[in-house]
Amino acid sequence: MTHPANTDRPFLRIEGVSKRFGDMAALKDVSLDLREGEIHALIGPSGCGKSTLLRIVAGFETADEGSVHLGQRRIDTLKPEARGIGIVFQDYALFPHLTTAQNVAFALKYANVSRRTAGTAPFLRMVRLEGFENRFPDELSGGQQQRVALARTFAAGPRAILLDEPFSNLDASLRETTRREIRDILKASGLGILFVTHDREEALSFADRITVLRQGRIEQTGLPKDLYFRPANAFVAAFLGSTNLLDGVASGASAETPLGRVSLDRPASGPVRLSLRPESIRIAPEGGEGVPATVASLVFKGHDASAFVRVGETTFEVLTTASLDIEPGQCVHVAARSCAVVLEE
Ligand code: ATP
Repeated sequence: MTHPANTDRPFLRIEGVSKRFGDMAALKDVSLDLREGEIHALIGPSGCGKSTLLRIVAGFETADEGSVHLGQRRIDTLKPEARGIGIVFQDYALFPHLTTAQNVAFALKYANVSRRTAGTAPFLRMVRLEGFENRFPDELSGGQQQRVALARTFAAGPRAILLDEPFSNLDASLRETTRREIRDILKASGLGILFVTHDREEALSFADRITVLRQGRIEQTGLPKDLYFRPANAFVAAFLGSTNLLDGVASGASAETPLGRVSLDRPASGPVRLSLRPESIRIAPEGGEGVPATVASLVFKGHDASAFVRVGETTFEVLTTASLDIEPGQCVHVAARSCAVVLEE
């Protein structure tokens, strides 16, 4: 499922940003825009520059080259507090000696204390924490603490919010529900959200668009389903999910490959590198459609299973329903069930 942003208008623009730490180039000519009302994920392996980019936008780090604009205003020359950018840190950074309401009130500028506390109500309502006003952070669950941090960020009146690894502190059982709740809250706020993650499932399910970074460079930006089904290169294909990379010789709309003749997502000619997701390969009993293969191993995952099958010297991963009665060592037939994606070098 994709979640279209409210508008296509670029809102936060990062233009040609580069950053070096000594000899190491952490960011190389990075440009991306965050649209109004959009949730945008920045994903990549450890050390690819995600946090550095977030810190440059927030104003905790200075770029060597490039600029950052919010609406019509250049903001990378401004102090962090003057940028109109809110940030929610990985550890939430709540004051342990202040209650929920006092933590949120901290972001409000009213001098009058009672007005400030009353002023927190709409923000606590936004994050669905009415009734929790007088609890201290250690009396709240991880998900609730995160919502306090979010309410405090909303209360400061930002025009865009940065989230650093927002769900990494939550245990797996809480993560999925919390993600859905937080997504609804963020969408209802209408603000542009840029968030950093290294969890591909989180990026695919939470974001309207995704940017994949690798060694300080952008590899691809796009809708989750486009990046998943139409990755530009082998790195993006493999980073966003399991995939089979195969070499073939293309002639027009199809190519000759170890899996036989497969259709291509775009015309090509000559040697090509292709990606086929495990769910894009069909497995059938011996004598079925496709080329002969041997089941090397099976990984049972509950609702489905991964079969690793050998075709000549090559092993392919095939997603199959667990009910299919196949055993390691069995002879089967495999074929592509949809187009293979032609990858760039
Ligand atoms: P992770 O997912 O592990 O948090 P990341 O993608 O956020 O990684 P960054 O923290 O942005 O990566 O770091 C990018 C590169 O810059 C890394 O090689 C890191 O070691 C280096 N780096 C970051 N901050 C500094 C610093 N203050 N001084 C020197 N090198 C730094």
